[in-house]
Parts: sequence; structure tokens; C-alpha cells
Amino acid sequence: MYDKNNIFAKIIRGEIPCNRVYENDFAMSFYDVNPIASTHVLVVPKGEYKNMFEFVNNASAQEQADFWSCLTETARIENCIDGCNLIANVGNGTFFYQSVPHFHIHLIAGDKKQDFSDIAK
Ligand code: AMP
Repeated sequence: MYDKNNIFAKIIRGEIPCNRVYENDFAMSFYDVNPIASTHVLVVPKGEYKNMFEFVNNASAQEQADFWSCLTETARIENCIDGCNLIANVGNGTFFYQSVPHFHIHLIAGDKKQDFSDIAK
């Protein structure tokens, strides 16, 4: 079940602000408020998918195409297409934690600001 009140749903609906990097019809990217590196951007589909597997299994071909295009364009804009880290937490475990229940990929590059594990717990 998707929680329509999660913070990324509010950003996508324009109810709260974000610092946008890139946007297309079905996806957008914006800077993480608590970056762990000099480049830390979140890439999200605009549709209501709580995690990556829900997205892969249920999103339309156009939604999926726009999502990967958004990720690629964001990496180009951030000059990290040749070197970055991509992380998608799904649910909670002993060493990972998805704090926002709307599918997102963390695009991370550049100089480290916090321990890498800080986005996984
Ligand atoms: P995760 O733990 O994988 O669900 O990651 C959620 C990320 O969302 C964290 O890195 C937070 O710093 C980030 N975050 C939470 N609220 C906001 C917000 N309003 N704008 C941008 N990033 C946010």
C-alpha cells in the first residue's frame, strides 16, 4: 500500500519545495537535504511506487523510460556520468533503511561529507 502523505509525494505534487536538478513528464530529480557527499541527488518517478520492485513490476514503459532518462540526464548535469554511486534502499533491514516510502535512487559522487552508511540506516 502506497502512503500518499510521504514527503516525496508532497514534493512531486508541489506542496513542499525542493531544489530541482532535472524533470521530464514522469520523473524528476532534486538535491538531498542531508547530503553525504558533494553530489547527492535523489531521482524519483512521479507515479506512486513505494520501492524499486513495485516500480519495475508495475510502471508503464514510458514511466520507466523517463525514469532512466532522468537519472542519466541528472548524472550528466552533475558531471558524474563516468563515476558515481547509485543506491536504492528497499524496506528495512539490519544494515539498510528506506526512510521515505516512495521509490528513489540516490546518485552520489564527489567528495565525501558523511559516512556512506549514513543513508543506509
Ligand atoms: P532513504 O533512507 O533511502 O529512504 O533516503 C531518503 C533520503 O531523503 C535521505 O537521504 C534524506 O536526507 C532525504 N530527504 C528527506 N526529506 C527530504 C526533503 N524534503 N528534500 C530532499 N531530501 C530529503
